[in-house]
Amino acid sequence: MRSYTLIAPAKINLHLEILGARADGYHELVMILQSIDLSDEISVQASDRQAIRVRCDHPEVPADKSNIAYKAANLMATEFPAAFAKYGGVDITINKRIPVAAGLAGGSTNAAAVLVGIDLLWNLGLTQSELEELGAQLGSDVPFCVGGGTAIATGRGEQLSALPSLNNIYIVLAKYRSLAVSTPWAYKSYREQFGDSYLNDIHSLSERAAAIHSGPIVKAILNKDATEIAQKLHNDLERVVLPEYPQVLQLRETFASAGVLGTMMSGSGPSVFAICESQQQAEQVKLRVRETIPDEDLELFVTRMTSHGIQIASSV
Ligand code: ATP
Repeated sequence: MRSYTLIAPAKINLHLEILGARADGYHELVMILQSIDLSDEISVQASDRQAIRVRCDHPEVPADKSNIAYKAANLMATEFPAAFAKYGGVDITINKRIPVAAGLAGGSTNAAAVLVGIDLLWNLGLTQSELEELGAQLGSDVPFCVGGGTAIATGRGEQLSALPSLNNIYIVLAKYRSLAVSTPWAYKSYREQFGDSYLNDIHSLSERAAAIHSGPIVKAILNKDATEIAQKLHNDLERVVLPEYPQVLQLRETFASAGVLGTMMSGSGPSVFAICESQQQAEQVKLRVRETIPDEDLELFVTRMTSHGIQIASSV
């Protein structure tokens, strides 16, 4: 049976700004998303049963219809019923390395990999923008995960505008294994506490969304200047997550006192990343944080920004 093995990178947010609430329950956002070289491996294999099956080696990730990888395959089967009938079922195997419920788009990147894998398996020849449109039906971060790299994301996060890629900027990523922050909780708390400052008319929303293109973080990215980028990191959700989760605050403070270029929580947390001058500094910072917080529950990764989204590792 034919199969494709895909590399599915995580993302961090270099910028996350909440502009307002939307009628559909989502928020109007301005984000800068960045792929990182910490990836899951997904294999998508044709099967002779007319069914979709998911396996995952992580105990907290469901292997049933609630897995977003299953939903991605099911969407493909619904959109392309003739191909589903012709090529048969799909077996999906997920090797999880990306921390779960961490604000790193672990599920979203798995869904993007399944869309890309099934497109190949069924010889559909979909374009990147067609894959992104399908991805938007599964979740706001899925379209970005298809192509990855560095991008401005507006709307609920699904409207993308690519930026020049950032490569080889090293980061340290920290996440407590047993700590999870609910994304809906984070946005709801933000709305309750800071909703008064939302932009309410469509004109100011689109002006603010457009302004990011000439804003300081984008200038820093265009200059490919790690120090400047690190100084301009921003995440509105820190305002609700840091006071509620002292461990996340402690990670931010520990990174800052380790002399990194800049540090920020990713997405709705609880993972925190730090931008470093070099791989060597990142390794030293990792050791220093490990000494300061000798808690086995704390996972630490040295990784780097990458310019790619879903990639084919092998095909059989
Ligand atoms: P985002 O940054 O897009 O908000 P996240 O990194 O915060 O995502 P995920 O790792 O995607 O969060 O997991 C969120 C929830 O989704 C978890 O509770 C998990 O059990 C469930 N889930 C379903 N499918 C997957 C999958 N393929 N990988 C990871 N989690 C999944």
